[in-house]
Amino acid sequence: MSAVYRVDLDAFARNLRRVREAVAPAAHMLVVKDDAYAHGLEPIVMRAVAEGVRWIGAFDVVAGAAVRRIAGPDVRIFVWLIGGAGDLAAGIAADLDLGIGDEALLGDLAHLDAGRPARVHLKIDTGLHRNGIRPERWEAALALTSELVSAGRVSLEGIWSHISEASDADDDDARAVFLAARETARAVGLDPRFSHLAASAAGFARGEFREDIVRVGAFSYGIRPAGGPGEQELGIEPIATLSATVTAVDPAGVHLDLGSLHGLPSALGGRFDVVTPEGPRRVEAIVPTDTVIAPWAGAQPGDEIAVFGRDALHTATELAELIDTIGEEIALRVSPTVPREYTSTDA
Ligand SMILES: *Cc1c(COP(=O)(O)O)cnc(C)c1O
Repeated sequence: MSAVYRVDLDAFARNLRRVREAVAPAAHMLVVKDDAYAHGLEPIVMRAVAEGVRWIGAFDVVAGAAVRRIAGPDVRIFVWLIGGAGDLAAGIAADLDLGIGDEALLGDLAHLDAGRPARVHLKIDTGLHRNGIRPERWEAALALTSELVSAGRVSLEGIWSHISEASDADDDDARAVFLAARETARAVGLDPRFSHLAASAAGFARGEFREDIVRVGAFSYGIRPAGGPGEQELGIEPIATLSATVTAVDPAGVHLDLGSLHGLPSALGGRFDVVTPEGPRRVEAIVPTDTVIAPWAGAQPGDEIAVFGRDALHTATELAELIDTIGEEIALRVSPTVPREYTSTDA
């Protein structure tokens, strides 16, 4: 296999500065789920910490504990996929902030003697119905939380939710539910320090959604929304290029191997151009382990091709738009078997 995913950590750092400026005075929580959107967890977390990021959103407890080992003690690490009492204990041990969207987990916390209070962010379901405490159960959950706080089992750090960011009207409705839930919490004497509900899109576009923390994944990596504002308008840039060297040349065309596990969606075959030593050439077909591009005179194994991203003709989101999906869908296709390479001149 001959592919490599080159990540420009300086470009990543510029995005981090841009995100920080866009969401200020709210804090930027850098979301690093899916191996930092396939860019590689460790170098991304190390650079983020060096750039002053103080909140990292890590998805589950295993990933959160990995981030803790990389980032050291001075960052807050938020996780929101928690399976049960074992995860709660592991999360407390790794000093994580726990997003709790299930009353049963509060019950588990009542029985768990972890030696110190769990740092809890209670999630209200504001309409996505993925997880989160339903509005009709919110008061019961608050009552249980109050008991846990009094018993020293819980420190209520935050109230949060997740919104679709697909329609302003839906997001406005979700925000109204969120604000009402926070008022109810205050009315029963709970006053968490942190509120958070926005991700990249609402965090940039809608000031009233920023609250104390904005959980930004996509824009931190320069992945713009499909059908939405461009990178220039947002002030972000793609940070990685998928490159590959030619593995074979035959009458059918010039062949690349982008890694066996995922590869790009075959529907992209015939629909975009890559950068070759002789200029742009069309990708003619994509099948597992074999990507075929239109030939050029003198093509030979070892020639370098920029497939997508920073130094290519198209970004992940541009490819996504060709097949009606989102940029993450393309970025996450970079196979874990493709080596990552990191460049940085200013750190
Ligand atoms: C993925 C995710 C985010 C980040 O979303 P982006 O659109 O990539 O910024 C924020 N919060 C939660 C709960 C998520 O799952």
